[in-house]
Amino acid sequence: MELHEILYQGLLNADFGDLGDRSEYVGASDVGGCPRKVVLSKLEEPHHDLATLIRFARGHLTEHLIVLAFKASTYLPKWEYQREVVHKQRPYKAHVDFVFETRQVLAVMEVKTVSKMPKEPYDSWVQQVHFQIGLLKDANPSKAIRGVVFAIDLNEGQTKLFDGFEYDSKLYEGLLLKASHIWECVQDPGVEPETEKGPLCAWCPYRPSCPAYDINESIPEMPLEDELQQYLGLKETQKDLKAEIDKLAVVLKAGIENGNPDGDRIRVGRNLVRRSVRHSTRLNGPALKKDHPRIHAKYATETSYEVLVVE
Ligand code: SF4
Repeated sequence: MELHEILYQGLLNADFGDLGDRSEYVGASDVGGCPRKVVLSKLEEPHHDLATLIRFARGHLTEHLIVLAFKASTYLPKWEYQREVVHKQRPYKAHVDFVFETRQVLAVMEVKTVSKMPKEPYDSWVQQVHFQIGLLKDANPSKAIRGVVFAIDLNEGQTKLFDGFEYDSKLYEGLLLKASHIWECVQDPGVEPETEKGPLCAWCPYRPSCPAYDINESIPEMPLEDELQQYLGLKETQKDLKAEIDKLAVVLKAGIENGNPDGDRIRVGRNLVRRSVRHSTRLNGPALKKDHPRIHAKYATETSYEVLVVE
């Protein structure tokens, strides 16, 4: 048997913790996702390729890394890994990555493994954590429930904590309605699940027949899926890079401010880093058009340029 096949079969059957049959309940991660995608994957388990199985395994390995660190720590309150929390009446469940417990507070920590650190937590993460918090509050009404998302980029060794999530009854009510809708659609495949368009649509296996996208429009198809995925990934990276560059520029300017308060430059290794003031003159087009329409018409030229829009 070829190595890739051995790895593929092994990962398909590997025991990463028992979450049970996911078609028999609505989980917290389901509630964070697009209802249509969740329902279809529950009705028929999608085929996962080796790359997807490795990505799934990466998430479990990250959690185990944290378990190892927590076990070696003496500073933590009582904690539990993969606590199952179940709704009293409905088939809703959460397998909370980590729960920390003191006499008055329960805190959930959801671990996310990322390839690029986002600036803000994704909506799906926020919904997932709020659903976990809500289920925990139902089971522990006298305790304050808090939550965080801990994101890890294993390649870069970067971590980021998104904190401040607290029990919010209105938000939880809304998420219970979403869970109920998902469950209704799983029970009765005649009920059409709602769609929730988002950045993950580009990777959704149910995209070809998705009603959120106009399938009747006759548009020629091109086999450029890989290129499109790379393009979308790089656009995200570009946004993050811009934010990183701006942050580092602030640090370097502060270095000049502190290291050479009377000057405008510092040495960093063999490089000279200096502040430089540039001037630019901008014309206020709308004001010019309003006050001097003839001059504006004489000198204004219209140009068109092309942009790429991915829907
Ligand atoms: S393509 Fe997007 S909106 Fe449609 S099912 Fe997939 S995730 Fe949901």
